[in-house]
Amino acid sequence: MKKLTGLFITALLLLSSCGSVPITGRKQVLLVSDSEVLSSSLTQYSDYMKSAPASTNAKGKAMVTRVGKKIAAATEQYLKANGLSAEVKNFSWEFNLVNDKQVNAFCMPGGKIVVYEGLLNIVSSDDELAVVIGHEVAHAVAKHSNERISQQLLTQYGAQMLGKALSNKSEAIQKIGNSVYGLGAQYGVTLPFSRKHESEADYMGLIFMTIAGYNPNVAVTFWKKMSASGSTSVPEFMSTHPSDATRISDIQKFLPELEKYKK
Ligand SMILES: [Zn+2]
Repeated sequence: MKKLTGLFITALLLLSSCGSVPITGRKQVLLVSDSEVLSSSLTQYSDYMKSAPASTNAKGKAMVTRVGKKIAAATEQYLKANGLSAEVKNFSWEFNLVNDKQVNAFCMPGGKIVVYEGLLNIVSSDDELAVVIGHEVAHAVAKHSNERISQQLLTQYGAQMLGKALSNKSEAIQKIGNSVYGLGAQYGVTLPFSRKHESEADYMGLIFMTIAGYNPNVAVTFWKKMSASGSTSVPEFMSTHPSDATRISDIQKFLPELEKYKK
């Protein structure tokens, strides 16, 4: 009986912590508040930006800001038009290009976008950069970091976390957040996004880039080019790839649906 009551309470708590992803409607367990996620990620972002070598590539910086701003505006437009205006306040956008040869990019919760110079060597147009920035922004909009932190809290603290009786909750969130965001080797292992999160970010990112006025059809050739580039470091957006072939065929299936978002 006692065990059943415990299970019942667990189920209730999980239900009360449920959210759903904009656009896809997928249900997710979010045990951490938006403000807790934002403060833990901002700490890591500002530490990273202090040590990251700034880019001197003026043309590249302008490109990142131009594409980033358009994707940000399209994302806010989508949220406002779909009854999610309250989510807009979570974003305080920043656009950065850093002098790093890795082929990578990320967007922290809160809309802090960072592109590495190495990625710009591969993208050949604003449309192609929009594929990556759209994908990264989608991770932030879908609160994938919160979901991953929540999963880690449950794994590490179990029932104690569910009862929200953690005495050092913010410390635990910061510690887990460090491995979730994984900025820099000093934080150890980065937890990759799951395949489910990757394909959700692909799908939502294509919608955001289309609303922003970019051509989503370039995504197919872009991912083929990425796949063939065989870079030695594995970028965030390729880290848990559904096989490249699956990703490309999924994107081809999404394309007709994107027509309705075109201006
Ligand atoms: Zn990704």
